[in-house]
Amino acid sequence: MGFVRLLAIIFVIWLVVYIARRLLQNRATEKKHGQTKQIGNMVRCETCGLHIPDTEAIKANGHYYCCEEHRKTS
Ligand SMILES: [Zn+2]
Repeated sequence: MGFVRLLAIIFVIWLVVYIARRLLQNRATEKKHGQTKQIGNMVRCETCGLHIPDTEAIKANGHYYCCEEHRKTS
């Protein structure tokens, strides 16, 4: 019986370690995900006032525009 109990204890310890590692990994990936999700500055289209991330905005003469059309019209 002693050996079976020992195996059971080892299994429970392994399970706890495994779950703890999984949880820590999930937290780490969530943090990473949050960082990559982070959007840069939001800028306002000079023509229509739409707010868009500056990475998607068209920049001209120090002003931001949501699309090429709005850049032309202003
Ligand atoms: Zn616009």
